[in-house]
Amino acid sequence: MNVSKRRLLIGRMYHESNFLPSFRTDGSWFNEHRDEAVLQEASGSSSTLGGIYKKAKALGYEMIGAVDIAAPPSALVDDDYYAGIRAAFVECARRRNFDAIALDLHGAMGTGSIPDADGDLLAALRDAVGPDIPIGVGLDLHAHMTPKMLSSAEIVIACKENPHSDTVECGERVVELLDQLLSGKLHPVSTLARVPMILMGNAETNAGPLQELHTLARSLAARHPQIRDISLYNVMRLMDDVDMGQSVVVLSDGPLPAATEIAARIAGEFWRRREEFRDDLLTIDRALDLAADPKKALPVALGDMGDRVTAGAPGDGVYILQAALKRPGLRGAIPITDAAAVAKAKAAGIGAHITLDVGGTMTSMFQPLAIRARVRNVSTGVFTMAGPFHGGERSDMGDTAVLDLENGLVLLVTSRPAYSLDPQAFESQGISIAAQDFVVVKSGHHFKLNFAGLVEPLLVATPGIGYPFPGYHPGTRGRFYPEHEVGEPAIKALSFARP
Ligand SMILES: [Zn+2]
Repeated sequence: MNVSKRRLLIGRMYHESNFLPSFRTDGSWFNEHRDEAVLQEASGSSSTLGGIYKKAKALGYEMIGAVDIAAPPSALVDDDYYAGIRAAFVECARRRNFDAIALDLHGAMGTGSIPDADGDLLAALRDAVGPDIPIGVGLDLHAHMTPKMLSSAEIVIACKENPHSDTVECGERVVELLDQLLSGKLHPVSTLARVPMILMGNAETNAGPLQELHTLARSLAARHPQIRDISLYNVMRLMDDVDMGQSVVVLSDGPLPAATEIAARIAGEFWRRREEFRDDLLTIDRALDLAADPKKALPVALGDMGDRVTAGAPGDGVYILQAALKRPGLRGAIPITDAAAVAKAKAAGIGAHITLDVGGTMTSMFQPLAIRARVRNVSTGVFTMAGPFHGGERSDMGDTAVLDLENGLVLLVTSRPAYSLDPQAFESQGISIAAQDFVVVKSGHHFKLNFAGLVEPLLVATPGIGYPFPGYHPGTRGRFYPEHEVGEPAIKALSFARP
């Protein structure tokens, strides 16, 4: 058999947007690639895009790079920047010189005027390619799932693990399913059910209620050979859109009445167990007691839950620093986002002793803290993630300063919210993790993957917008438990067949 190679257009738009800050995330925040460079980036990346590349190559596809943008979570994306990115994607799509499109989207990107940018992009791509070219998407499980996504793309699935250890597999699965579709072996129908609630916590998939819900999903899928995927979406909590909630999407080959029951049943389980999604967190003092324990085998990593950059917070909290300053001799590394403090350190120069305020300028409920420090190092703040989460990817913290405090603490002061979930954020700046009693990370889940074997992970209750509290969400578009009174929801499932 002599068939010409199938061609796949691939790309990525990866951003989780927090609607609270008044500034906008523009192009300077993103790692951006076009055309051939998209393929180069994908080939070395342990991400969903990397998985798309890997599987497409294995199946003998020829790949065409479209657009790739990725940045750590931050404020809503600048409208003009997004318009340019969408136009670039659409230009590639209009060429129609491929058999299918495979994308890595986070699924929780908003702009100043478009709350669901991922759905907007997919609708624009569908317009550009017409009804016959299939689109497959691998989403983060913290996506805000919308009908627009499902009515624009045939294959829409999520990674299944939090922390996200299976992003590569998610990308591979997208290509496998697209390949089945192109070969006529899959006639995709997506069935969506949703409940209006956020998870307050307890959001990892290797224990607790989420583990049980994923086990339930797998066992229900196993009973129906027509079911190809069940994805559970735990919406990013700092979006502002209608119908925010926990979403379940069943992907079946052809219409399947059982898919409706299954989607509604799993969504109903989220609601029934809604009170179980809360974390047991340590107080800051208890966490520092554990850091000070001379018998500990490894440094402890303190997940700064209220100020998690990975949950959309700016990373400018100084509460753990404030408490650690009262414990002289404790060695700890603490990241803080503060562009003005970095500028001051740079101006003073390496080796200078300076007095300055750090943190507390981006989160409205925070206050800056005055410290005295010696400037150890300044840099551009660019490093390569060690992974496994996003290993091999370039990460940009903006101009960065390393400041030594007199009592044994070291501050990693970055101009931008940084991916401190990866040890290279510290090591690349000359801060040894092994030499610390503790390291603060602005992450609650992913750091457990990237710091595995290097630290004992702990989760700490701290103030901030990264962890929901009553009144945390001043948005006007959506209503969801427990932020709003929503009553007992009527759970209905809705199906989307190939357009
Ligand atoms: Zn996520």
